[in-house]
Amino acid sequence: MLTGARGEGGVTVLKGARERWVPTGGVELCVAELGDPERPTVLLVHGYPDSKEVWSKVAVRLAEDFHVVLYDVRGHGRSSAPKPLRGGFTLEKLTDDFLAVADAVSPGRPVHLVGHDWGSVQAWEFVTVKRTEGRIASFTSMSGPSLDHFGHWIQQRVKRPTPRRIGQLLGQGAKSWYVYLLHTPVLPELAWRGPLGKRWPRLLSRLENVPAGNYPTPSLPSDAAHGAWLYRDNVRPRLRRPRADAYAHAPVQLITPLGDAFLSERLYDELELWVPQLTRRTIPAKHWVPRTRPDQLALWIGEFVTSVEGGRPEPKAAGRHSDRFAGQLVLVTGAGSGIGRATAYAFAEAGARVIAVDRDGEAAARTAELSRLVGATDAWAEVVDVSDDQAMEKLAARVATEHGVVDVLVNNAGIGLAGTFLDTTSEDWRKVLDVNLWGVIHGCRLFGRQMANRGQGGHIVNIASAAAFQPSRVLPAYSTSKAAVLMLSECLRAELADQGIGVSAICPGLVNTNITSTARFAGVDAEEEARRQKKSARLYGMRNYPPEKVAEAILRAIVNDDAVVPVTPEARGAHVLSRFAPGVLRRLARVKSPV
Ligand code: NAD
Repeated sequence: MLTGARGEGGVTVLKGARERWVPTGGVELCVAELGDPERPTVLLVHGYPDSKEVWSKVAVRLAEDFHVVLYDVRGHGRSSAPKPLRGGFTLEKLTDDFLAVADAVSPGRPVHLVGHDWGSVQAWEFVTVKRTEGRIASFTSMSGPSLDHFGHWIQQRVKRPTPRRIGQLLGQGAKSWYVYLLHTPVLPELAWRGPLGKRWPRLLSRLENVPAGNYPTPSLPSDAAHGAWLYRDNVRPRLRRPRADAYAHAPVQLITPLGDAFLSERLYDELELWVPQLTRRTIPAKHWVPRTRPDQLALWIGEFVTSVEGGRPEPKAAGRHSDRFAGQLVLVTGAGSGIGRATAYAFAEAGARVIAVDRDGEAAARTAELSRLVGATDAWAEVVDVSDDQAMEKLAARVATEHGVVDVLVNNAGIGLAGTFLDTTSEDWRKVLDVNLWGVIHGCRLFGRQMANRGQGGHIVNIASAAAFQPSRVLPAYSTSKAAVLMLSECLRAELADQGIGVSAICPGLVNTNITSTARFAGVDAEEEARRQKKSARLYGMRNYPPEKVAEAILRAIVNDDAVVPVTPEARGAHVLSRFAPGVLRRLARVKSPV
């Protein structure tokens, strides 16, 4: 017998969805389906305080390839609420609901679960209890840990505290402030049905950059009031007595938003202990990824489901940083040669989507082509001169329309210029500053603005040089341009920190690339210039530091969010001297060029 009445509070924004009600344990669940039922079923479970419509953008994208199913969790959206509410939201009852929905929509075939926030917390229960074995083909989790794993995580840190572990506990404790509030009686309900419910859409848009529109749905106040019981019925008992056998019986893909205000990345450090087949992904984003990053989520979910189904091979990317960069949109300037090309390949090997920009169209096209071969999810070439502000504006607009906002920007394009100050003409100065400094300014300004507007974080890498902190009588213009890039990066890093956008300046030393053979030598005739180019190319060749190592340093700098990275040993040495013994560098600066 049904004790709860069908929820009336919601409206669906899922155009073209087929809806039905599934009875289970005294409630009726509102279930929506999209796509071809013959295809593998992807079952999306929403979080708190949401209804299934939080998934609308992801669902329509996935429906092109899969049978997509969503349901309002009991007490949310148009599903009815248990009576009484207390004790009606236990993980056991939520597991019954999941099985009822899975049996109704995909009776003969296991489903691919996807959960966000509390949808992920419950799905962890589904994928780690015995009675669902064989009903789940895979699980994609985002922003919602298993309460059992979380309980063990806390216990380990309390039993064996170290300063680092205590820091982690305090960090997560501070992020969980709202969980304590939700345990207080009545107040959360009053707040949600009153002022908080009214202000929530604006708060979401201001704090999380969730675009305004037909989400959240009008059922929000009652969703949030009922959903408080998810916390009250489960959190304390499970954290106190976590299950010891909470092992996943299906492959899991963990997607961790790097800017999640409610969950620390560290919560998942020991996840391999519980999940035999784990794929990790990170994304520069805040908590509400189903609203803010639907394209990226649909891509990852689709890839994962397809690889588990065995229809296509495993995702190609197996590079060192694939957990961090796979699927991310990365734009590299000067990608047609040297450090830029090696960087494009390193991101490609990590499974990123790569945009290779260069003023040399053929070289950019070759980089894009090879990027696809070595593992890029996709790659494109763009022919642009970074010093041309209008061309850069057009590039930024085109990239935004065709591919979206870049997650990582690498301002690498640069040219060499040697020659004393008195030999350097104003035209020489203009050229080197136009490319080395203005190119970086245009990139930061245009793509940085898009990242900031998206409000989900990202990273900007500017390639400076050891010349940025090492004066030299023979590289005044080049060194000035690079010192400016270094300072610009430091200033921008301070400005964008609040928005979760990292900025790193990379300072290589001598790296074996083409830069020596194209560098201009001021104050000498063409013949002498060619001779010096050859000689310096030989010198760099003898030093033989490969651009691939700089590329690796760039990816590492992003992962660690480093501010300034001197790369080669001589660059590191010069960096130390510039801080502690600048007089030594000043003396070295007087040495005449060996070239
Ligand atoms: P490289 O000459 O091998 O590659 C530079 C690429 O940038 C080329 O493909 C070139 O076509 C492109 N490019 C140049 N000007 C451009 C413009 N205006 N618009 C678009 N593309 C342009 O040089 P590299 O050594 O790989 O240099 C990459 C960066 O690293 C530069 O900023 C350079 O100053 C810096 N750097 C190099 C070294 C080194 O020793 N090679 C050391 C420190 C810093």
